[in-house]
Amino acid sequence: MPFFQCDSCLKIFEWDRVKVKKCPNCNKKCTFNEVTNYTTDNGGPGNIDPRLMKK
Ligand SMILES: [Zn+2]
Repeated sequence: MPFFQCDSCLKIFEWDRVKVKKCPNCNKKCTFNEVTNYTTDNGGPGNIDPRLMKK
C-alpha cells in the first residue's frame, strides 16, 4: 500500500488513493501527497521516503 501525507495536518496514512474522500484526521477534503519510497534508498520500496515528506 502506498503512503500519503495530508497537506493540512501532515499526518501520514497508508491506503489506496482511490478510496480517499477526506482526511480522517482533519475531517475535510485535503490534498494528499504520495510519500511512498520506490527507490532502494532510505529503507527501500514499500517504506516512507522522508525526503518526500513535508515538514
Ligand atoms: Zn489532514
